[in-house]
Amino acid sequence: MRAGFPDFRLGNVLATSFTGTLSERHGNAVERIPVPHRLVDWLAVNGLAVDSCTTAQLDLARELRESIHAAATATALQVALPASAVQVINGCSAQGRAAAILTPDGERQWRLSSASCVEDALSVIAADAISIIAGERDGRLALCASPTCRAAFFDSSQSRTRKWCDMNTCGNRQKKARFNANRRESLGSTKP
Ligand SMILES: [Zn+2]
Repeated sequence: MRAGFPDFRLGNVLATSFTGTLSERHGNAVERIPVPHRLVDWLAVNGLAVDSCTTAQLDLARELRESIHAAATATALQVALPASAVQVINGCSAQGRAAAILTPDGERQWRLSSASCVEDALSVIAADAISIIAGERDGRLALCASPTCRAAFFDSSQSRTRKWCDMNTCGNRQKKARFNANRRESLGSTKP
């Protein structure tokens, strides 16, 4: 991790980990890829290593991110997909030339057409978003219960009752808030 930048929130779903690079959209928003080299870092952590990124590529990445967020939110709310978001996702998906590669250990890796091709990496993220929005994977899109977050996340729990995008952040904060509210209540009840 590079000093001076917000940490990444990593989940096990590529597309929603990516939308999580902007958090607290309805509160004090935290931009976790504020500069091009932080996108390079994020892509490396997610198996999509590139060696450089321009400002224009970062802008495109953020446009894709917000489009995935908009489309995933619409899916979670069961309303029509915003046409502009669909257009951006499809554009990014079609633009890339990433190939799925099977390793000798039987794992999938992505091979990009060149190490400077952020667009290839974005196409992998766009395709991942398409697969969850289209309902091809086992799980459902839901919105985080935190009113300042409302992040779209992919719930693949057995019961499909996950409430928070992330247990360590939003889930924990909610638990603490409830704990403090209970404590205030019990303190209040001891007063005459
Ligand atoms: Zn959340």
